[in-house]
Amino acid sequence: MIVQLIVLFLFNLNGSSSLPVEIFEVKRPDGKIEIFTTNKEYRPYTLEINWQLKNIDAPTKKFFLVPGSAKSYSLMVLHPKSKAYSYSYHFTCIPGDIVGAKHNDAVTYKFPFKEGFQTKVSQGYNGGYSHRGVMAIDFVANEGTPVCAARAGIVVETESNNKGGCASPKCMKMANFVKVLHDDGTEALYSHLKHKGVIVEIGQFVQVGQVLAYSGNTGWTTNPHLHFEVLVPDYKGGKSVQTHFMSNGKRKLLTKGDEVK
Ligand SMILES: [Zn+2]
Repeated sequence: MIVQLIVLFLFNLNGSSSLPVEIFEVKRPDGKIEIFTTNKEYRPYTLEINWQLKNIDAPTKKFFLVPGSAKSYSLMVLHPKSKAYSYSYHFTCIPGDIVGAKHNDAVTYKFPFKEGFQTKVSQGYNGGYSHRGVMAIDFVANEGTPVCAARAGIVVETESNNKGGCASPKCMKMANFVKVLHDDGTEALYSHLKHKGVIVEIGQFVQVGQVLAYSGNTGWTTNPHLHFEVLVPDYKGGKSVQTHFMSNGKRKLLTKGDEVK
């Protein structure tokens, strides 16, 4: 999801309420113009700003980070060079920190179920059924199995209202899910959850092993399972990466057919 908005203004701007990020400005006593932002979400956003400037200086960098839950966050200061100045800009609002986020490969993820639960990997990284080009793991799990956080973070997005699923990509958008933001700026996706099966709330900090939801069979799926994927934010909605799991007492990259507990 990338949202674009064209903004044209001289002194006053009312941000659009449909965007998570809003921008407003203050003309300071020293004549400079300070641009502030607010962010309604717990997830940070990257703003890509392209300027049209006349007799006013703006920062030359292209990307600006708006932290999650930012309120009146100072983004930049514009410096008029004469009284006859004008400016306009076009910005693109990209979920996540696309400049600073980098997956910490040293992290070992916890098996995303309760202690003692045993299962099998039904599809691995870049799997041929629905993971072509996707670095995700599918764990077989009966509907109603508690799904636990594989890594600590903040819940930034949830969906649990969907009821159905089918064995076709056309059902992809019917998946229930939880997304957890990690301290390196990446996000974990726990998907195909049960209808009304999410028990955490947006903004909640979750510890490793904490129950997030109950597994299900919603979305593009043939059998009840948990789809787990970690995404590094980028311009295209996120790039998935391989993650090491602690499984059977060993740190490893899981593959299809692995028996895990
Ligand atoms: Zn999957």
